[in-house]
Amino acid sequence: MHDIIKLLPDSVANQIAAGEVIQRPASAVKELLENAVDAGAEKIQLIISDAGKTLIQVVDNGSGMSEKDAELCYERHATSKIGQAEDLFSIQTMGFRGEALASMAAISRLEIKTRKADSDIGTEVIIEASKPQSKNACNCPAGTSIAVKNLFFNTPARRAFLKSDNIEKRHILQEFQRIAIARPDIEFKFYQNGQLTHHLYKSNLKQRVVNLFGNNYNQRLVPLEESTQIVNISGFIGKPEYAKKTRGEQFIFINKRFIRSPYLSHAVENAFEGLLPEDSHPSYFIFLETDPDQIDVNVHPAKTEVKFRDEKYIYQIIKTAARHSLGSHNISPSLDFERETAFDDIPPTTGDQPVKPPVIRINPDYNPFEKEKSASLSSRVNPKQWEQIYPQEKDIPSVKSDLPGNQYTISPDWDNSRSEPSGGSLLQLHLRYIISPVKSGLMIIDQQRAHERILYERFSASSGKKESGSQQLLFPENIRLNETDAAILREIKETVKSMGFGLNELGRDTFVIDSVPCGMPEDHDLGEVLEGILENYQKNKLELRNNKKENVIRSLSRRLAVNHGKLLTEQQMSALVNDLFSCEIPQYTPSGKPVLQIITSSELSERFK
Ligand code: ADP
Ligand code: MG
Repeated sequence: MHDIIKLLPDSVANQIAAGEVIQRPASAVKELLENAVDAGAEKIQLIISDAGKTLIQVVDNGSGMSEKDAELCYERHATSKIGQAEDLFSIQTMGFRGEALASMAAISRLEIKTRKADSDIGTEVIIEASKPQSKNACNCPAGTSIAVKNLFFNTPARRAFLKSDNIEKRHILQEFQRIAIARPDIEFKFYQNGQLTHHLYKSNLKQRVVNLFGNNYNQRLVPLEESTQIVNISGFIGKPEYAKKTRGEQFIFINKRFIRSPYLSHAVENAFEGLLPEDSHPSYFIFLETDPDQIDVNVHPAKTEVKFRDEKYIYQIIKTAARHSLGSHNISPSLDFERETAFDDIPPTTGDQPVKPPVIRINPDYNPFEKEKSASLSSRVNPKQWEQIYPQEKDIPSVKSDLPGNQYTISPDWDNSRSEPSGGSLLQLHLRYIISPVKSGLMIIDQQRAHERILYERFSASSGKKESGSQQLLFPENIRLNETDAAILREIKETVKSMGFGLNELGRDTFVIDSVPCGMPEDHDLGEVLEGILENYQKNKLELRNNKKENVIRSLSRRLAVNHGKLLTEQQMSALVNDLFSCEIPQYTPSGKPVLQIITSSELSERFK
């Protein structure tokens, strides 16, 4: 009988172990950057070619290594960071497993150049597939440069698993951001294919965030500060109105180390309850400082999963801190956590005026939902019928007549929010719904969806025409986008222009806007509107594969629509209701969600039985 068990050769064992630590170029970026931070560097350069596939290099001016250390550092379990076993529970330093360099050495050509400040001569070591190729004395600046070349060259299966360059680049950028935000006290330079794409000077946290994500973050952030015996919390959270449809800039750090914690993220999102439209997510940059014995780390090789001893307590503190900072910065009129219902929002009737019963003509026999199941979206409504069921213009106070040419603007009289309540029949509920008695019962309109529908039809009507109505801005605005957004905008520029935006590219992902569609309210932050449009556009892309124009119109309407959480005056509500019922299809949003519901009188009396 032959024995069948064999020991794996070291090189193969190393390759397998490497796969656990280095899954893609971004993992190498993370490990190299963390080592540079651990070495006490004040300046760090990250250099990438071909999305990290051919070169990932990190150059730092930190402690450097001695000749002996340079030879040892790529051995398995070589680390200068653990003295005693209990240090394993500490995450004061970034890494401590002594696996990163060994892993990279196993699956690439690794070139290390390093010199300690107090020695005149540095050391250069080259390793390929775990095998030392050369070791030489060299002249090099104090600090360390480590280059990872041709990653995965000897592990074709891994290499085949890599995604497109754009995706790999995005992962790299993400790792870079996490470390750059954690350490604004360090200067970073990031070169991609020979071009300097980020130069972040040493600064404070807010400045760092602004440098990474763009100038408009200056007014988007509110500070967060809370300190207890167990944990100190600091950082910034994004104002609710800048929340994104996709989970965007969400960062939590413990002891200056990025962590992923769905549980703690939930705590932050929870603090925003009632302040955000559905499916949007706030940005945040939150730092927790705590004694290392409060946490268990290292449950995962990528080391981003961290558990607190007392998670529930930390959850509460984070949530409270976030609420405090939202509240103390007066972010939203709806921020009143005590208030359960919006019935307090009913405008007081002015003294001697009797309460007017609503005058609304309606066809009692018509049930708008009857045909819903069989009918297709566009054929659901005959506009003529709507005139019979819903209030006629003269029955509701209207601002429409004030507007030139009976053409609605994006926001009819939107900013005239000081006007007195007119004692009409419209009521806003939860800063989200408009409620109106109708003859057949009670009509509930979703304000955001209604406005979205109105804008959608307006933009659809105007987009074909030459003069789609735009207004010149007094001060054209420059907007700098990130690479991805800029590329999308280039793709849809002509369509966006046809909606009434005056848009030109200035180069380096910066665009200037010198006019906007007629009637667009001034309080919109243009950069934010644009980003929102691009975000929506990306999201709709799958669904509306070939219809660029339709996609842009939908995105624009979505973004410019009045949010949930916005207090509306009587006038604004009636203008909105009027405009809604001038639409061809008032009862659905462009993506087919219901805009309104009716609770019929018979349903009501049923409930009171
Ligand atoms: P770990 O960081 O977990 O210790 P690594 O494999 O990442 O393991 O690094 C091994 C050792 O190499 C480190 O403990 C450190 O002593 C040394 N080292 C790595 N990178 C640097 C650097 N940029 N500057 C100085 N020393 C470094
Ligand atoms: Mg390390």
